[in-house]
Amino acid sequence: MKSLYLAILFAACGAWARPLRVAALHSVLAECASQIGGDQVTVRSLVPAGSDPHTFNPSPEDAASVVDADLVLVSGFDLEPSFERLVANSGTKAMVLSASDFIKDPLRSAQDDGVLDPHWWNSIGNVRRVAAAVGAALIRLRPASAEVFRTRMAAYDARLATLAAWADQEVAKLPERRRILVTSHDAFAYLARDYDFRIEPLLGLNPAAEPDPRALARLIDFIRLHHVRAVFADNTESPKLLATMLQESGARSGGVLYADGLGPVGSGAATVEQMFRHNLTTIVDALDGRK
Ligand SMILES: [Zn+2]
Repeated sequence: MKSLYLAILFAACGAWARPLRVAALHSVLAECASQIGGDQVTVRSLVPAGSDPHTFNPSPEDAASVVDADLVLVSGFDLEPSFERLVANSGTKAMVLSASDFIKDPLRSAQDDGVLDPHWWNSIGNVRRVAAAVGAALIRLRPASAEVFRTRMAAYDARLATLAAWADQEVAKLPERRRILVTSHDAFAYLARDYDFRIEPLLGLNPAAEPDPRALARLIDFIRLHHVRAVFADNTESPKLLATMLQESGARSGGVLYADGLGPVGSGAATVEQMFRHNLTTIVDALDGRK
């Protein structure tokens, strides 16, 4: 009798009983949805952690997960043009949330003809704003769980606030004249704005581009002129590549930075907190010259 009652109750609740299906096109968006949604969501991360979102190509399974989703999370800023076509053609009824709509004062690339910079996740402030938007979207989709989502949002935001306070202290160890970030591609403009770094990437916004020999020569001169101690590779490229290209500048390899989102499980950068701690510690240790 009891099980019959439960079965009727379950049927009456219908769609409310199942977790909301979220498809996320960036590892940081997937984390926001999981942290706020908890067991009320199932999150499919379409661009695997540690892979390059610039060259993402949706598979048929990805297309199916978009059609079935209740909520689709994209970065926007033209980071996923092939995906936007896929969404348009899929006929999905999912709510689509673009992180780009929630970035205050988006940056333009100095190198790529002033196009908008898609690397929003490299600012903790941006992650907090986007997380709030993801939480609001989950509440709209399932108002009955609003209380749970709000509690989880507050807990996640408090952790990001703690991370931001730690980051301020960590960067404060580095004298301002040493805040020069030479990286592989132009992924850290938001981080540079938050912490007063000058950035000198070898490549533009897309890491798949070929380096221009004149840009390489200019960068070598720049490193010598400013006595830059270390340069940083992206996790998606061969760590030695940039250091080898810049060998004659005298700068050493400062290590690998997670430029395009979270690293895989076990990488030490598999969460937003780990990623920022890894990136900022690596930068400060390599540039301050005390180690
Ligand atoms: Zn990038």
